[in-house]
Amino acid sequence: MDVFSLTARACRDLLGSGEVSSTELVELYLDQVERVDDRVGSFLLVDRDGALAQAAAVDATPRDERLPWEGVPIALKDLLCVEGMETTCASRILKGYRPPYDATVVAKLRAAGLIFLGKLNMDEFAMGSSTENSSVQLTRNPWDLERVPGGSSGGSAACVAAAQAPWSLGSDTGGSIRQPASLCGVVGMKPTYGVVSRYGLIAFASSLDQIGPLTRDVRDAAALLDLIAGNDLMDSTSVGLPAPLVMPTRTDLTGLRFGVIREFLGEACEPGVREVFDGAVAAIHAAGGMCEELQLPSVEKGLAAYYIIAPAEASSNLARFDGVRFGHRSEGAVDLIDMYNRTRSEGFGEEVKRRIMIGTYVLSSGYYDAYYTQAQKTRTLIADDFRRAFGRVDYLISPTSPTVAFGIGERTQDPLAMYLSDLCTIPANLAGLPAISIPAGLSHGLPVGLQIIGPHFSEQGLLEAAYAVEQRLGLSALPSIAEAGR
Ligand code: GLN
Repeated sequence: MDVFSLTARACRDLLGSGEVSSTELVELYLDQVERVDDRVGSFLLVDRDGALAQAAAVDATPRDERLPWEGVPIALKDLLCVEGMETTCASRILKGYRPPYDATVVAKLRAAGLIFLGKLNMDEFAMGSSTENSSVQLTRNPWDLERVPGGSSGGSAACVAAAQAPWSLGSDTGGSIRQPASLCGVVGMKPTYGVVSRYGLIAFASSLDQIGPLTRDVRDAAALLDLIAGNDLMDSTSVGLPAPLVMPTRTDLTGLRFGVIREFLGEACEPGVREVFDGAVAAIHAAGGMCEELQLPSVEKGLAAYYIIAPAEASSNLARFDGVRFGHRSEGAVDLIDMYNRTRSEGFGEEVKRRIMIGTYVLSSGYYDAYYTQAQKTRTLIADDFRRAFGRVDYLISPTSPTVAFGIGERTQDPLAMYLSDLCTIPANLAGLPAISIPAGLSHGLPVGLQIIGPHFSEQGLLEAAYAVEQRLGLSALPSIAEAGR
């Protein structure tokens, strides 16, 4: 069986018809992990025994008594708490931390009978755009092993692109699902803020974080989002979806209006990306959709506002990692304050420290109004821009990332260049809007993603539109790891 041709739905159907057992399916993916992960580096932890035990339990259940997705494997970004399974956010400070509970999304997948293959690499505490900020290992792009997979959910995107799991979960605070999905040629979706519970997601910036699917196609994204969405008493900001999602079936875009965000096609956008994006616009036209250019003047300030708001929230959220309750504690401290200092100095990486310092600074009493308040006002202006735009069009489109996957090490010395990677994705987080990235084509052999943004809670329609576009644009090429791995 060719793992690269399998969607999660195909896995479900093979299990349902009895053509394969869950054990065979899990072994298929574990074998693929074995074959390629020394080169790709998606996994921080492979739970071979746990996954096989779960699969054996599924196989022991009569087929007509199983739940629809029972026995289908999945892999998880390492900031989702899984009871008893080491969860580190790829940080030294959480080394050895085994959560005593499941995140709500994990509990939901467990109840649906999905099988956890393991935990995936990421930028430390989800801060980054290349997964190079992981304190543990590099993850490489399955299309070109000398390039980054994007980030911070780089492990989640690479593992789906390299067919090490049929699908995965990631989290998106400023683009961390969509940007790596774009760079790795897979589908990635950030739901409307509040659609998915954040309980048990180790927080980066609570007003921006959302968990979402990374999959091989749009229909799998719909299926996985439907499994994890829902209001949750443990997260007071969760509301769920207005109605359960159904499989997208739309094949034409007649009557739909798409707004092209002009601000995202400026000089930061690479010519090769622009070319693929123009092809996507032509495909939307060909499918009966209408496209017009729109200006959203405030979105250009999104990056600046984000790099105040996200660090501010992070500096508060990360205060709990002090050596007392979780993971690493420095040895040899002379007193409590010394223990805090040493633990945090040893435990956090450079980027995390940079964010904590920026966040602490912008929240300090003398600077609060000058920075934090201004950033919050900018956030409101951005939300207003989107609201006005959605008065004229149904969806907004742009490239997901201004460039294709960049070289390993290329941006690590220049944080500002790294921050630019999320130019087109951050505004949707600031406004709480749902957005999806789907593969739109290749530039110099590397994937380019199309981002589609919708109004709040428009997930069903957004997935329908994405599905229709996918029918015309889907990638036929496979990543280079597919050849090398055989
Ligand atoms: N790259 C952005 C950052 O570094 C976004 C990260 C994310 O979405 N988690 O903050």
